[in-house]
Amino acid sequence: MKNTAVYPGSFDPPTNGHLDVIERASKIFPRLIVAVTDNQSKTPSYTLKERLTLLKSITKKYSGVKVEIFSGLLVHYLKKKNARILIRGLRAVSDFEYEFQLALMNRKLSPSTETVFLMPDEKYVYLSSRMVNEVARLGGNVGCFVPPEVRSRILKKCKHSNR
Ligand code: ADP
Repeated sequence: MKNTAVYPGSFDPPTNGHLDVIERASKIFPRLIVAVTDNQSKTPSYTLKERLTLLKSITKKYSGVKVEIFSGLLVHYLKKKNARILIRGLRAVSDFEYEFQLALMNRKLSPSTETVFLMPDEKYVYLSSRMVNEVARLGGNVGCFVPPEVRSRILKKCKHSNR
């Protein structure tokens, strides 16, 4: 399974930027696992199950792409999946320092792991889940930032919290 790649993230919620990276990675690697994680240092806006369901729905058109939940150390998960490639998205300089540290830490923990950085289309470089959540919370239209399934879920959530 040398060519299996894993794209880990919180995806809270998945955005068009994430989807752009997934599409690019799926053109390079025959098997791609999108691995949804509960990042303990962040309080998620969407449950793990919601994020899993949304990701499954927006990636069903890509035949080599699977979505899974993972917890624990990323390199252990990669080993379990027999995967060597780690996909991360790079937006702007602001991502670089954290991603650089993460990639080198993962390499130290597992020397055979290679991190591959993919840049999204420039129209998504400013896009983050955090921004989407903030705009949605304040009643803004997030339709051009997320796939339609995600937009519907966000609208439902906003309706509930406005009651
Ligand atoms: P994490 O909590 O692991 O950073 P995210 O869901 O925020 O989870 O991001 C997962 C990966 O996707 C990270 O590598 C991040 O840089 C990348 N990413 C997030 N948004 C975008 C975007 N708009 N364009 C490209 N990559 C992105």
